[in-house]
Amino acid sequence: MQIRYPRKRSTIRNGSMNLNLLAEPSTLTRSAAQNKSALKKVFQTIHGNSCPLTYNFHLHSTFSDGQLKPEEIMTQAVNIGLQGLAITDHHSIGGYQVAQQWLDRWQSQNQSQNHLSDRDEANPAPQPHLWTGVEITSNLMGTEVHILGYAFDPGHPSMSPYLQRQAPKGLDYQASQVIAAIQAAGGLAVLAHPVRYRRSPVDLIRAGANLGIDGVETYYAYGNPDPWQPSPAQTQQVKELAAEYHLLTTCGTDTHGNNLLLRL
Ligand SMILES: [Zn+2]
Ligand SMILES: [Zn+2]
Repeated sequence: MQIRYPRKRSTIRNGSMNLNLLAEPSTLTRSAAQNKSALKKVFQTIHGNSCPLTYNFHLHSTFSDGQLKPEEIMTQAVNIGLQGLAITDHHSIGGYQVAQQWLDRWQSQNQSQNHLSDRDEANPAPQPHLWTGVEITSNLMGTEVHILGYAFDPGHPSMSPYLQRQAPKGLDYQASQVIAAIQAAGGLAVLAHPVRYRRSPVDLIRAGANLGIDGVETYYAYGNPDPWQPSPAQTQQVKELAAEYHLLTTCGTDTHGNNLLLRL
């Protein structure tokens, strides 16, 4: 006689666990890191209070001139409850890569913990969306500026001059080239802290827009206030320029110290 076991919840759960194993987390999260359209959607919703508690798109790790290890950045991101972030080291992708490995591990541990604790699978632990990021020194109208790159493929040949842990030289140093390289690698190019340069943001944002730049870092704390908050006058000016040239607006703390909620 054949014994019939009742169909238990655990059977269903095992089924869905197998599905999770099939869709290997690292592959999923890696393609998430290059999901440009998801990032564009987020940038379209960014406002004055998005950073630093919900998003943060300007962070430095020990892979450039920051004090935090990528693992420490990710731990703080989870503790803050960030929905999305990018590590934007100067001319380096190493910090992102370590953070991605951390996130892959954290995600698979979280999945098994959710399973063991019989947690509702429709309501898993919140997980920050990590995008690829970099900050590149370049020349725009004879002025040295910083251009942020997001959601690009770090392995794309166009990015190679910009991930060598030193500022690019010659033609590679030109903003037109930097913007084109980021976009060829499937990413978005953003003019960082546009009010921090020798030339006015009016000139620089117009020049960036003429070169096809995607966005401008609109919400930025000039002068390192504590608590971090976007500088009101500069933000207003940059917001208007972004609207005039139909550019995406982003925010970030430009953290170099040991606290993601501050710049220094
Ligand atoms: Zn910068
Ligand atoms: Zn920076």
